[in-house]
Amino acid sequence: MQMKLERIGWLVLLAAGALLSQAAAQNAPRLEGFDVSMVDKTNDPCVDFYQYSCSKWKAAHPIPGDMPSVGTWTPLFLYNQTILREAMEKAAANLAVKGTEQQVGDYWKSCMNLDLRAAKGKQWLADALKPVDAMKTKQELAKVLAHLHSGLLPAWEGDDNQTNTALIGFGPTQDLEDSSKMVAGFDQAGLSLPSRDYYLNDDENSKKIREEYKKHLVRMFELAGDTPEQAGKEATAVFAIESALAKSQMDAVDRRDPMKIYHKQSLAQLQAALPDFNVDEYLKLSGSPEPPFYIVTTLEFLPALDQQIKTRSVDELKSYLRWWTIKASANKTTPELEQANFDFFGTTLEGTPKMLPQWRRCVASADARLGEALGQEYVKIAFPPESKAKAVELMTGIRTALKQDIGAVDWMAPATKKQAIEKLDAMIQKIGYPDNWRDYSSLKIVPDNLLANVEAANAFEVRRQLKKVNRPVDKMEWTMTPPTINAYNDPQNNTINFPAGILQLPFFDAKQSDAANYGAIGMVIGHEITHGFDDQGRKFDAKGNLRDWWTEADATAYDQRGNCLAAEYTHDVPELGAGVKANGKLTQGEDTADNGGIHLALMALEELYKSKGKSLDVPEKDGLTARQRFYLSYSFSWCESARPDVERMQITTNPHSLSRYRVNTPLSNQADFAKAFGCKQGQPMVREQACRVW
Ligand SMILES: [Zn+2]
Repeated sequence: MQMKLERIGWLVLLAAGALLSQAAAQNAPRLEGFDVSMVDKTNDPCVDFYQYSCSKWKAAHPIPGDMPSVGTWTPLFLYNQTILREAMEKAAANLAVKGTEQQVGDYWKSCMNLDLRAAKGKQWLADALKPVDAMKTKQELAKVLAHLHSGLLPAWEGDDNQTNTALIGFGPTQDLEDSSKMVAGFDQAGLSLPSRDYYLNDDENSKKIREEYKKHLVRMFELAGDTPEQAGKEATAVFAIESALAKSQMDAVDRRDPMKIYHKQSLAQLQAALPDFNVDEYLKLSGSPEPPFYIVTTLEFLPALDQQIKTRSVDELKSYLRWWTIKASANKTTPELEQANFDFFGTTLEGTPKMLPQWRRCVASADARLGEALGQEYVKIAFPPESKAKAVELMTGIRTALKQDIGAVDWMAPATKKQAIEKLDAMIQKIGYPDNWRDYSSLKIVPDNLLANVEAANAFEVRRQLKKVNRPVDKMEWTMTPPTINAYNDPQNNTINFPAGILQLPFFDAKQSDAANYGAIGMVIGHEITHGFDDQGRKFDAKGNLRDWWTEADATAYDQRGNCLAAEYTHDVPELGAGVKANGKLTQGEDTADNGGIHLALMALEELYKSKGKSLDVPEKDGLTARQRFYLSYSFSWCESARPDVERMQITTNPHSLSRYRVNTPLSNQADFAKAFGCKQGQPMVREQACRVW
């Protein structure tokens, strides 16, 4: 459970965000759901169902040069981005606009004007570096860091799932034991590579990446105007500090356990753990109200951070902050810096040869900063009321299925079942977009300085976030924008959230068959509901408080079932190289949600068919039964090809299994699947010992 520093949130997402956020395609946006012509009859569904349903699609869709991966949702990403682009172009062309339209139009202009960025970008960067360059003593570190964290380097900058900013992450967070309380917290941070493993692992690939990273640091310092000699020294300091911080960080598996990242600390305790950093001054300058206590995720991280502050020279600390400022500015200043940044983070780390077109990078940037302004336009075009009504219908059916499932299981005591059902009944479902749109009126956006716009938008968001401390929690707020192709469960608010962006094909269409909808979006809905009852989610009660409401025997029975899944998903992935292993302990929550999600969606579809007096097992006009269509639509919505570097990164850092395992493993656990395709015991898609939680 990461800290809930809002967008970093310890929210349980549906998908590998990094892949989705960069997926893209050059073809015109045309949305497709599953079609029977996609089935590859040369494959046996009982041997490798993913191949059976995806190989034709994959053969027809090689990974484009500007993408880390390609999936059946790739056209949807282009479709969503195209709608946003048109909204921004329209706003930019209208000189008389005011309010959010002015903000959206001017943001677009500032991002798309490459001549201006080439001419002025270096100066913008030099200005951004001034507070760091002016630092004379270590006593000033708190002031400089508070400045950076409140603008260019907010706690969520970087990966959306993990706090990532210079040195340490700070932000509002809900108290785990009392979710109605909004306090503040500190999280481990400070690494530029995707996780601690990249600094610590001894395999050849990790070593190679570290060497390339050091070269990249030198290059970026030089591009920022430093001499080769200076740049070399600075790079050495940055790498040493980040490597030292990496050693004290908690790994991704431990971070899943809420108790392991929940340490209440007073200001005095924090200050005692960080004697060489003026915590009080940092907090005052950041503008945070004082909460009754702070939550620290990784206690061991604080002394390690202090040690770096204490033992490094002022120049070394400045080099580190310079690097983070340069990195954060790269995509918003000169095209040269942006390209260099991509060469390492896109090409070396992910294996993607080239950047997405400029307009798509600008759409993504605007979506991240003005998402609820742009989102209103998106919803108007892409999410009619019929879609919402149909989505509600699916959710009702799937919630009922879980209720029945909880009622029927033989390993839970009646008292535990009662609380589980209370939790399920209290789960708030949010569909499409927020009821109340965010007010951006105090945010100033200009047409001619992208870096200033990003800094202003980040500062706006930091202020908005910190205002939450000591105030009532707003459960109806969203942490994803409407066009996002993803979904999440927020255990502390007991909500499930489905942006309009995923309520589209290949996942959903109010007009496609029920079987296709339940297989694709139905599984997504079931997945998010199940997260409330996965190995970590189950530890929260109906109010979103971390509280053990399970009897000891029920908890033991649960763990047995969960461990079965974790063992199933711990296996070699030889196609990514010798020794590469998937870690079922890292992916246990997501795998539980996948297995439960597909099961619950099928139960709901069965009920629907029963209510209409129809059978799932009668062939329809294209020859498929509804049960077959359900599984094929599920698999089709996850067809994907990803670059090996990206998959290796996903295996180490991401709690989601690779798509091919997300399809084949759950289905091999289900008797209904075997029944649908006539698979027999002994075939690869039929487990001898099936695992099941929900
Ligand atoms: Zn999930």
